Amino acid sequence: MREQGVEFFFGETVAALEPDQAGRVARVVTDRRTLDADLVILAAGVAPNADLARDTGLDIGESGGILVNECLQTSDPNIFAGGDCAEVANLVTGGPGYFPLGSMANRQGRVIGTNLSRKAALDRGAGMARFRGAVGTWCVKLFQRAAAGAGLSAQAALDRGMDVLNVHMVQLDRAHFYPEKDLMSLDLVVERGSGRVLGIQGLSGNGDALLARINPVAALLQHGAPTVEDVSTLEVAYSPPFAAAMDVVNALGNAAENLLAGRMRNVEAGDFERLWQADEVTVLDCRAAVQGGAMAEKHPGRWLSIPQDELRERLPEVPRDKPLVLVCNTGVRSFESQIVLDAAGLGRSLNLAGGMAALGRAGVDVGQE
Ligand SMILES: Cc1cc2nc3c(=O)[nH]c(=O)nc-3n(C[C@H](O)[C@H](O)[C@H](O)COP(=O)(O)OP(=O)(O)OC[C@H]3O[C@@H](n4cnc5c(N)ncnc54)[C@H](O)[C@@H]3O)c2cc1C
Repeated sequence: MREQGVEFFFGETVAALEPDQAGRVARVVTDRRTLDADLVILAAGVAPNADLARDTGLDIGESGGILVNECLQTSDPNIFAGGDCAEVANLVTGGPGYFPLGSMANRQGRVIGTNLSRKAALDRGAGMARFRGAVGTWCVKLFQRAAAGAGLSAQAALDRGMDVLNVHMVQLDRAHFYPEKDLMSLDLVVERGSGRVLGIQGLSGNGDALLARINPVAALLQHGAPTVEDVSTLEVAYSPPFAAAMDVVNALGNAAENLLAGRMRNVEAGDFERLWQADEVTVLDCRAAVQGGAMAEKHPGRWLSIPQDELRERLPEVPRDKPLVLVCNTGVRSFESQIVLDAAGLGRSLNLAGGMAALGRAGVDVGQE
């Protein structure tokens, strides 16, 4: 967003919207500054408009939305509700869910329409259409990037008191030799004890490619309690113009399995930045010497370059005084290096999840090109 010239001002309170002489909005006044404006968009969240239902005496759920059953009947079975005013089941948590999305409203509208037309048949014992609930599958486009997700984010899971692992992966979205390849970031939210997948989120320059990874996991989340194994073995289509033979979504499941089993020890970009700034770690760059060497020259003694395929022969050069953070382009070769170091009894290393690509996307500047 910043690359596109968008400025962010956090922690400020809007005090006034000032009009021009024609009465159109011209300025936004905050407690710290005044900004000229042609258009003001207030995105202050969405709350269900359920006053009419409340006043009528219909039951209202925890979210403030109208309570409905799977047939989308309210507490008065002759009144149906759906869309932004209704609360449905959250199929991941099993609790109440509120998903104010046009996709939900349309699906629920069909169920309601079907059930209204079947009401007479229902009264004779025929089946009704059902809407079981939702996992909250969403997507947005931000300039040339797309973001999408389904289920719980790590923060939403933590807010519910769950013990979760956020597995971050950056990998090519199609075969490495295919010209239109692009790096895709995915996060898998996993319950630590059970290995149950609770959600997935992603960021990509290609929205269609991203949805091809989010949607199948959304389907898994809707129809069971998927585990990381279900994601690592998830069947998705492969051909070089569309995917890699080991698809990025399967690689995400593999990384989750490795983390849960303790085979992989990761550090996220934000935590790495703190460790780096506090000079608490030495970086071992596992990329080709031309990339790693350039960073080693910039940070003598703090950033070392040993390409992954030379590491076994160059183990004596690996420093032992501080914990190591292993980096490569996307976190794959650095993980392979971690296995080599573990086998050599040098088990204090952390793998930078998503590698240098993740640092760039998180806005962490360590002097990289
Ligand atoms: C800017 C914007 C972008 C969005 N983009 C997306 C998107 O990309 N994907 C997505 O899934 N969702 C998106 N949404 C959300 C989506 O539009 C809503 O979830 C969806 O429209 C909800 O449908 P609904 O029928 O429940 O409510 P609405 O579409 O709000 O329809 C409710 C209707 O009821 C009328 N009404 C209200 N009170 C009364 C009353 N007392 N008497 C009679 N009529 C009344 C209203 O005037 C309105 O016409 C977006 C929303 C906004 C605002």
